[in-house]
Amino acid sequence: SIEEGVEIFKNQPGSHVYTRYGNPTIEAVAQKIADLEVFGSTKTGYGLLTSSGMAAIHVACQSYLRPGDRILTQGNLYGGTTELFQKIFAPQQIQIEIADLDDLQKVEERLKTGTAQTIIYLETPSNPTLQCLDVQALSETAHAYGCKVIVDNTFATPVLQQPLLLGADLVIHSTTKYLHGHGVSTGGAIVCTEAETHFKLWETMKLVGSNSNAFDAWLINLGMKTLALRMERQSQNAFALARFLSTHPKIGKVHYPGLPQHPEHPIALKQMKAFGAMLSFEIGNSAEDAIHFANRVQLFAMAPSLGETDSMIIHPATMSHSKMDPHLRKKYHITDHLIRMSVGLENIEDLLLDIRTALES
Ligand SMILES: *Cc1c(COP(=O)(O)O)cnc(C)c1O
Repeated sequence: SIEEGVEIFKNQPGSHVYTRYGNPTIEAVAQKIADLEVFGSTKTGYGLLTSSGMAAIHVACQSYLRPGDRILTQGNLYGGTTELFQKIFAPQQIQIEIADLDDLQKVEERLKTGTAQTIIYLETPSNPTLQCLDVQALSETAHAYGCKVIVDNTFATPVLQQPLLLGADLVIHSTTKYLHGHGVSTGGAIVCTEAETHFKLWETMKLVGSNSNAFDAWLINLGMKTLALRMERQSQNAFALARFLSTHPKIGKVHYPGLPQHPEHPIALKQMKAFGAMLSFEIGNSAEDAIHFANRVQLFAMAPSLGETDSMIIHPATMSHSKMDPHLRKKYHITDHLIRMSVGLENIEDLLLDIRTALES
């Protein structure tokens, strides 16, 4: 009836009038991710599913920021995020400031300066050196200055880390990675704990048109049925590889938050349930050494994505981080002989044998 139509057109989330506005499958999956992000607490999670992780970041920032506002962030973000900030937001008179987010005093000094409304945007663990940032401490500092905190939780997933329970205001995901887990669906998610914020985000998403679709949502839902099992097994595999690599004479620094020598191991211990399935390490002493190794391993696909059931390898200096300012690369320890691995759920003995064989060659 027209009366029902009037209700549906009242511009509320959950109006299944048109897929860009909403769809039952999309909403069920968004709610599942939101429930996981607040699991174990009394908070209510509100979720949105977007067409990609980048769309989620765009919708989140676009909803909060106005000309004159500021994004305070780290230099070692996901490459696409840095480009989004510099190419899309900076020309809209949004100030992009790179700071050492691991130095709370410096963060506070920045927040004291200027009158710009600020968002602190962070990733932990970060790519590719698995730097961990203290979400609770950063959120407390940010809130003392009336600032919002957005955390990209793609690497950890809510199974290993729940930033909203540590004080963050918004969580972002590229569901393309672990949440889906099988590399055949692109998607993103935003989770918040306030209905009002959710409405604002939903409206931006609806108007920009960066919504998900029923089929991708359905695929993400299938993948998420094994999320906890995958995170457990893949974290175990990564930890075993990190331990092996850290004692090998041809390997230099190993970046894995579970290792006691990792600089932010205490932070990871405090805020993560396990240390995830991403790791990186230096091999030999040149880019040639790293490339040689990467070309020799057989079970690790040479591929820039991550978070799938299959193991993957890249050489950040020539691949994922090749466009990064060389000074920043150096500062964040992204050396020319660094290799990054996304560890899958293959048999650990097979992975170890493959790596050992490649190292011997
Ligand atoms: C892949 C990724 C993104 C971007 O997600 P897409 O789904 O590729 O748009 C953002 N942040 C992190 C940490 C990622 O790994």
